[in-house]
Amino acid sequence: MLNMTWEFKLEPTSEQVAEIEDILDVCRNVWNFTLRERKDWLDSRKCPVNTCSIRQEFILSADAPFPVYARQCKALTSAKADFPRLKTVNAQVLQQVLRKLENSWESWRLKRSGLPRFKKPNRMRSFVFPQMLKNCISTEGIKLPQLGLVKVRWSREIPALLQVKQARIVRKASGYFVMLSLEAEVNIPSTMAHGHPLGIDVGLEYFLSTSDGEQVKRPRFFNKLHRKLTLLQRRLKTKQKGSANWLKLQKKIGRVHQRIADTRKDWHFKLAHHLCNQSGMVFVEDLDFRIMAKGMLGKHTLDAGLGQFANQILPWVCFKRDVFYAKVDARGTSQECPDCGAEVKKDLSVRVHQCPDCGSIKPRDIAAAQVICTRGQRGIENACRVEVTGASVMVSSQLVLKQEIFGVTQRISNHTVRLVG
Ligand SMILES: [Zn+2]
Repeated sequence: MLNMTWEFKLEPTSEQVAEIEDILDVCRNVWNFTLRERKDWLDSRKCPVNTCSIRQEFILSADAPFPVYARQCKALTSAKADFPRLKTVNAQVLQQVLRKLENSWESWRLKRSGLPRFKKPNRMRSFVFPQMLKNCISTEGIKLPQLGLVKVRWSREIPALLQVKQARIVRKASGYFVMLSLEAEVNIPSTMAHGHPLGIDVGLEYFLSTSDGEQVKRPRFFNKLHRKLTLLQRRLKTKQKGSANWLKLQKKIGRVHQRIADTRKDWHFKLAHHLCNQSGMVFVEDLDFRIMAKGMLGKHTLDAGLGQFANQILPWVCFKRDVFYAKVDARGTSQECPDCGAEVKKDLSVRVHQCPDCGSIKPRDIAAAQVICTRGQRGIENACRVEVTGASVMVSSQLVLKQEIFGVTQRISNHTVRLVG
């Protein structure tokens, strides 16, 4: 099964814009109400029996069940009788809001993220149509439930093999977009390790360094955009909050934010293709960038989008380009000599690797990348030894299938090649 999400710009009429905004607002109300329900349940169970908190406390009966997804769905259906506004929005769309709340609540419970927040007006930015008609796409646009035919700027062709499963409507600073979840009924075998190996060390001084000795700096245009952003944000203080000029400036700031995100993503994709051009296997450190972002250099880590690049964009581009991608144990990659394997202790300020045992001298990041490259290859060797005894050789029918899919991947990569050139 191949799943992808492609984004297209919508060109809705003014009535459709009003409709989208209305749906977003109803979704926001549903989100806030159901989140309040969950938080109330939690609060009512928190305080000890013999004391009360100084602030007010909402009291629920002791046997009140926790408002899980299914229970909230039921409540939503019966609430429609009292709140006719709920009836104006597609029922599935509202259910997806509850589902999303359930997911973020769960991820908070498992300590993966923070508690879901209440959303102020305009903070709800997207909603999903979880079911789409078979032939909802035409050259004029896309047929959406409730909204009808909406004009779309088809920036690329959707191959016939792919089916539209879901559509998410997103409001951004630069307009409305649709994110289509595409699915193809194919099994794509994972890429085999082959070709030239490349170790990659990501960092802050250089965005990345490869084991071949290439070092890529963070592009300059980010600084320029950031300066513009701080300038606008400073100007915001002189405006009266909520006034027309304040709103205008807010919109401008939003557009700069989006421009930064878009340019960064574009640059990441080009960089990933550049790496895939020169290698058959790519190895990256297995780092948790969220922890790095909490440290002293936090702002810079987040700004560079290291995690987005190493954990999302690079693996995806590698998959498309048939390049093997693997993560490598990150412990002590910068403390090891790539040429003789000896341990060479150095702290962050030392930028040059100098081995007292074998005398090799090279930039610190490149040495680390070479260690990563060696570790990655060693990992494959170990895995292969197991695989041969398990006799997992590619069957010929699988090869045929792969060729068939190559048709798809080829078509996809054509687009990306144009993007690079
Ligand atoms: Zn050495």
